[in-house]
Order: sequence, then C-alpha cells, then structure tokens
Amino acid sequence: MKGIGLHTGQPTRLTFCPAPVNTGVYFVRTDLPGRPALAAKANHVRATQLATTLGGDYFSVSTVEHCLSTLAAFRIDNLIIELDGPEIPIGDGSAKIFLDALVNAGMTEQEQPRKYIYINQNIYFGDDSKYAYVAPYNGLRISSTIEFPHPKIGRQTLDIDINEQSFGRDIAPARTFGFLREVEAMRAKGLARGGSMANAIVLDSEAILNPEGLRFHDEFVRHKVLDALGDLVTLGLPLMGHVVLYKAGHDLMNRLVTKILNSTDHFRVIELGADLPDNPLEDQYLWA
Ligand SMILES: [Zn+2]
Repeated sequence: MKGIGLHTGQPTRLTFCPAPVNTGVYFVRTDLPGRPALAAKANHVRATQLATTLGGDYFSVSTVEHCLSTLAAFRIDNLIIELDGPEIPIGDGSAKIFLDALVNAGMTEQEQPRKYIYINQNIYFGDDSKYAYVAPYNGLRISSTIEFPHPKIGRQTLDIDINEQSFGRDIAPARTFGFLREVEAMRAKGLARGGSMANAIVLDSEAILNPEGLRFHDEFVRHKVLDALGDLVTLGLPLMGHVVLYKAGHDLMNRLVTKILNSTDHFRVIELGADLPDNPLEDQYLWA
C-alpha cells in the first residue's frame, strides 16, 4: 500500500511479506543502506508523543500502532513489514487500509502452536489521573474510558472482547482525532504535517469539523482501543488478559507493557490448547 504519514507528511510505500514460524513482527527500512530491521518490541519504543515510534541506532519507524493493532486482531504473529520511509501510511486515520490489505493478501495458519502471555495476577501502572492494568482473563478484552472536556467527546467507555469480527466491525473503522488549537503547536514540533480531515477527525473548541461527521457516536474511545491493541503487540507475544484503561495514551501503554514484561511472576507463557485454570470461556474467544 502507499500513502502519506500523519506526522511527516511523506509519501511511503509499505509491503507485507510472509515470514516463517517464530519470526515475530519486523519493520524493514528498504530506503536505507543495509535495509535495517527492527522488531516490534517494547524495548525499541523510542517516542510515544501522539504516536508510537520504534527506533534503532540511526533510524526509526513512526506511527506503527494502527498497523500493529490489525495484526493483533487477526492473530498475525510472523510478518516482515517493508517500508521505504520513516512513517507508516495513515490511510483514512483508521485501521481500514491494513485490514483490507491483509484480508486481500490472505493469511496462512502455520504449523506451530501459538504462544500467549497469560496473566495470573493483576499488573497495574498509573495514578488517579490516568492508569492501566491487566487482570487474568481467558481471552483478550479491553475496557477503555476516556474523558475530554469537549462537548462532542466528554466521557466515553468501551468494553470489548477482541477477535477478528469485533475488530473489523467495532474498532478498525474508528479514526484518529485531533484538536484544531493543537495543530499549530504540533506543526511547530514537526508533527501532524500530513494531517487533514481526510485522515483524522478534527475538532475545534465546540464542533467536529469533518463534513461527513462521525462513523460511531463514540468513535473517539473506539480509536483509543485500536491504539491500545496496537501498542500491546510490543509485548512480543499475544496477550491473554483483561486490559483496563483510564485516559491511556501511548506513553502509558508503553509503561504498562514494560511493567508486564518485568513482572515475570505475574504471568506465564502458555501454548494454544493448554489447559487453563478456571476456563469456562475457553471456546468463546481466541480458540476458534
Ligand atoms: Zn491512533
């Protein structure tokens, strides 16, 4: 697929390439000498301001979260993502371009049981102003609450079990959003150069400026779930747990992911098909 980046405004070409079992998800910068590659893992997260940027010694890949979110929902664990620029194309601001490309390309089940990070005990990060935690759950569930002092947003909550169907229907179409008053400040920092109403919901102090309006009345919190799901991919293995978020952004998600990875006594790595304790929901979620 081709498109411009939200923050750089640069046109970029992205190619999804098949990868063998146990490869993981890698980004490859094909425009740089030696084609440097970077795994989509938390220790490579270099910036979390407005988007998640992965960085190596002398290169980076920005705004990875919408692409990674789609991989999580479709259970794609092994993939090489080639990119000829510094930022993933933004498309229409949702996950739709990635979903369409992957569904058109098709996916293959590989001959290895899928491994999961299975949460045994709650892991918490945050304070009263914003927090994130993950609790034991036999599936992947995200409950997110946002609060913006804006008449078109306010307080919104979404509680959803993640699977291909729910993602495609309820999450993937939700677009990123930004406030007009922040655009000038963002541009001064070199961000949002590609942003427009073609790839974001734009709000002034009172209204939504996009003539087409919203895709969902609560599109904002749906997009936050999209972002969170993408950031969870940096765990390196799919998560089995209930993620609860209050005013979470990319920075909080990166801190939660890092804390999970450091809390080795709070999770265990299981294989698909393993017997789980207290597992009445086993057949409803990721096991189909
Ligand atoms: Zn986003």
